[in-house]
Amino acid sequence: MLNSRKSKTECLALIYVLPGTEVQLSETVTEYTLIERIQVGDPIRHVTRGLKVTVDMEKLEFTCSCRMFEHKGILCRHCIRAMEMTNIATVPDKYVLNRWRKDVKRKHLDVKVAFHGSDKIEDELRYGRL
Ligand SMILES: [Zn+2]
Repeated sequence: MLNSRKSKTECLALIYVLPGTEVQLSETVTEYTLIERIQVGDPIRHVTRGLKVTVDMEKLEFTCSCRMFEHKGILCRHCIRAMEMTNIATVPDKYVLNRWRKDVKRKHLDVKVAFHGSDKIEDELRYGRL
């Protein structure tokens, strides 16, 4: 299972990402130019920006010019849109880092903690009197 809050934000923002052009770079690599509508300034106005997503279908690699995955470890809305455009229904495992997964066993949770009841050792009793 995926920690979904940040991924959900990206999925909700998908409506602002529209398909643009596509260029076949090689037999398996395609570069998609996507158009994103964003809000800027005060008062708010809408502008568009272009982003490039390179898709290698052989390696199932998605690289976006916004570099969100490289910086934050979260797959961006642009790559998700490119997955949709290439009919990839499941996010490849390499784009779901262990830190975002709920089904990964965390080693720091294996730390044993001793809970003492009424059988306190002498040092604890002495510390309690200070
Ligand atoms: Zn992106």
